[in-house]
Amino acid sequence: MAITEDRETPVRTTFDSASPATGEIVGTFPVDGPEQVGAAVARARPAAEGWAELGFDGRRKALLAFKALLVRRSDDLVALVHRENGKPNDDAFIEVLTGVEHLDWAARNAARVLGPRRARSTLALVNHAASVEYQPLGVVGVIGPWNYPVLTPLGSIVYALAAGNAVVFKPSELTPAVGCFLADTFADAVPDHPVLQVVTGDGATGHALCVAGVDKVALTGSPATGRAVMAACAERLTPVVLELGGKDAMIVDADADLDAAADQAVWGGMANAGQTCLATERIYVVDEVYDRFVAKLVERASRVRPGGGPDADYGPITLPRQLEIIRRHLDDALARGARALVGGPDAVHPPYVDPVVLVDVPADALVLREETFGPVLPVVRARDAGQAVALANANPYGLGAAVFAGRRAEPIARALRSGMTSVNSVLTFAGIPSLPYGGVGQSGFGRTHGPDGLREFTRAKAITRQRFPLPFPMQSFDRPGYVIPAVRRVMKLRHGRPLRRMPGRR
Ligand code: NAD
Repeated sequence: MAITEDRETPVRTTFDSASPATGEIVGTFPVDGPEQVGAAVARARPAAEGWAELGFDGRRKALLAFKALLVRRSDDLVALVHRENGKPNDDAFIEVLTGVEHLDWAARNAARVLGPRRARSTLALVNHAASVEYQPLGVVGVIGPWNYPVLTPLGSIVYALAAGNAVVFKPSELTPAVGCFLADTFADAVPDHPVLQVVTGDGATGHALCVAGVDKVALTGSPATGRAVMAACAERLTPVVLELGGKDAMIVDADADLDAAADQAVWGGMANAGQTCLATERIYVVDEVYDRFVAKLVERASRVRPGGGPDADYGPITLPRQLEIIRRHLDDALARGARALVGGPDAVHPPYVDPVVLVDVPADALVLREETFGPVLPVVRARDAGQAVALANANPYGLGAAVFAGRRAEPIARALRSGMTSVNSVLTFAGIPSLPYGGVGQSGFGRTHGPDGLREFTRAKAITRQRFPLPFPMQSFDRPGYVIPAVRRVMKLRHGRPLRRMPGRR
């Protein structure tokens, strides 16, 4: 981030965001420090109260107005994502469309998921009615990445807003214009409720947001940033939801549709130049179909064309320092004996990386262990589906996964250690708003999207109401002496009978 001093207000500094393809300056933004971040949280705090008081119905209408305006402005948003992030227009459009679907779902389902509902009581407390509801937390800090600058922040923002919170949003320093576009559109659509504030800057601004007294922080970023955010939030016991990196595996079983698997592997690994947290970064193929699959993969991958135009298959590497990581992963794999069947050592030519397909990659190669974030597909031969699952699971990441299989598809999907798995497609779960989204292990914890994503930005509130007093209360110092012995007998009758057959025993 190149920082310059703002001449009109010399105490504040600014930074430029630039197109990764052309270097053209897309916009100049303030570097917000603790003071500006604190002011944004202070603006959001009273706004959150008015927003919570609106209720589910009022918020649904407001969020649907935001959605409609976002859709009317979507051509401009798509063009801006293309300029600032570098991805082709069609990819930017798919991202915007998916974000809109999440916005619509969160707006329409918050009342059903979070509203008060009755809960069952027990025999001992039969005279009490019970209910549960999910109340907003207050102000949520959302810290976004640059690779999906619309979808990933909206995946937290719209669920937090629908649940009744205000949001202070810190977009990535590589895509602040897209972040401001989202916040401006919300402000234009919902002018009476300033519940989406934006602050701009790099990691220091993100840190300031973590310690600004917000009620929760939702980060989408790398595991290193996840650790820093968690440490900063620990001081005040501010809860966090962390959507971190991935090293997603694809498994191709013997009865898979190999054409579909090759097509989706190339899309999953190379769309957005591989800069997708859910990118297919490892492919495990059972021995029986390995050669045929690799031939199809090579044929499909060699037709993929990167470029800076709006119609290229994928665009430049957005984060310049990522080019070095991709080059290191390639050099390391080739030095350990891997062979490149598409692309090769010269695939990296800044700001682009050509498609690469690697075979004979040893298990300890960086490209099979760490997030590459480039259009590189290492393919590994597995004895059978069981070994493929074991190899896929032997990695500390666990975000998404994909399975191409027939008969055994669902057992394999279940056995994979990941937050989400798609069968006979890639990435699909991220586009279905009713599903939870999030990882395990180094990929983070907590969930966005779906009912779990709404609840993530609330606190569960339990309420009991005594409907009538019992003649013999258990929980009173005035309890008669016979009550507990009687209740003990009831407990043994109700819960103490042995099961006729233990599960698993013949
Ligand atoms: P990053 O971790 O560098 O930055 C993410 C955000 O955190 C940025 O806004 C950055 O300014 C901010 N930040 C950096 N240091 C901070 C600190 N100390 N305190 C608070 N905020 C700080 O990640 P990135 O390069 O923007 O994005 C790429 C990474 O994000 C990859 O690892 C990718 O897999 C991951 N990602 C995950 C998901 C998901 O849904 N799990 C989605 C997209 C991207």
